[in-house]
Amino acid sequence: MAGSESARLQMTPVPLPEQLREAEREAIMPTYARAEVAFARGVGSRLFDYAGNEYLDFLAGIAVANTGHCHPRVVGAAREQLGRLMHVSNLFYTEPQVELACALARSSLGGKVFLCNSGAEANEAAIKLARKARAHGEIVVLEGAFHGRTLGALSATPQESKQAPFAPLLPGIAVVAPSADAITAAVSDRTAAVLLEPIQGESGVHVIDDEVLVAARAACDRHGAALIFDEVQCGMGRTGTLWAYQQTPVTPDAITTAKALGGGLPIGALIAGERLADVFAPGEHATTFGGGPVICAAALAALSVIDDQELLEGVRALGELLRAGLAALPGVEAVRGRGLMLGAELAVDAREIVRRALLEQRLVINATGPTTLRLTPPLIIDEADVRSALERIGALLGA
Ligand SMILES: *Cc1c(COP(=O)(O)O)cnc(C)c1O
Repeated sequence: MAGSESARLQMTPVPLPEQLREAEREAIMPTYARAEVAFARGVGSRLFDYAGNEYLDFLAGIAVANTGHCHPRVVGAAREQLGRLMHVSNLFYTEPQVELACALARSSLGGKVFLCNSGAEANEAAIKLARKARAHGEIVVLEGAFHGRTLGALSATPQESKQAPFAPLLPGIAVVAPSADAITAAVSDRTAAVLLEPIQGESGVHVIDDEVLVAARAACDRHGAALIFDEVQCGMGRTGTLWAYQQTPVTPDAITTAKALGGGLPIGALIAGERLADVFAPGEHATTFGGGPVICAAALAALSVIDDQELLEGVRALGELLRAGLAALPGVEAVRGRGLMLGAELAVDAREIVRRALLEQRLVINATGPTTLRLTPPLIIDEADVRSALERIGALLGA
């Protein structure tokens, strides 16, 4: 009796602990819609709720836990630095910051790096850099773009529901369709930058066509504008190369990164190539916590895990396996994306599939729109994880 009772409980999804839900309602501004499970622990591609149930994580905290949860090298580096020096401000040289900046520049555009604390902040820095390089210049962004929630980044995020309550926003932003003709027509001698995600994440995982990127590169070259790639979501190995632009025919003048850069801890960076590396003068941009010793030590460890040919080849191979498996499931109308950044367009309500995946299949995924599933698993998954995720999604779609 006791045995079958505990077996039944094992199979019952454990809801969010009621005390947590109640306490949160009292204390936290209602900006987030929470799922019905709370996690107590994570390791690799697995998360565990407070009852000890195991979940397969194919979201990675929205493309953050690329190294998997609590990667021992990231944890070790952070822990070691925590006990040595946590903060001295940017009035002083710090070794981990210089090391990380060198590693980031070397891995991408050469040039120089500004370190901050989030994706939005990295894009704020990029907008300021472009404006400084061309005074009063316009920033061209694409329809469907997502660049963050702070006011400058929000101004570059042309979505009515996100922008409308907070008007007036930053002036001098032009929104164009993601087409070669539209970008070519929009860029002029008054353009400071074209800012775009080479693969749009929040809009539902849309890969920007190579011909559009080539046209943007040419238009920026013709008019002396900066081409800036927001790689906050698609960078750090997500698509099977360290940076997403490395699988396109163009090299941008600058990239922004964040999300997975800290191996699960908060950090952002603007990396500018030679041409824009010395645009800022002392005092023109700063942030208290940017490039702190602990986060830089963690990011260096995360970068060393991700910048690995074997791992990146695995991302490409597993991405193909996941893509083909998704495309073969009933009710999947299209699969978009690259590497392990995939969106599956469904014939049914994606949000309901996400909810049932969590509660019935113990699979963590997410929806970026009413009919789009997003899969951004940790990059350290293996083939068995991919097959297991496909089985769990398949069970919900009637495969
Ligand atoms: C998440 C995201 C951002 C914002 O990053 P935050 O760290 O949440 O500020 C910006 N751009 C892209 C492409 C993102 O996916």
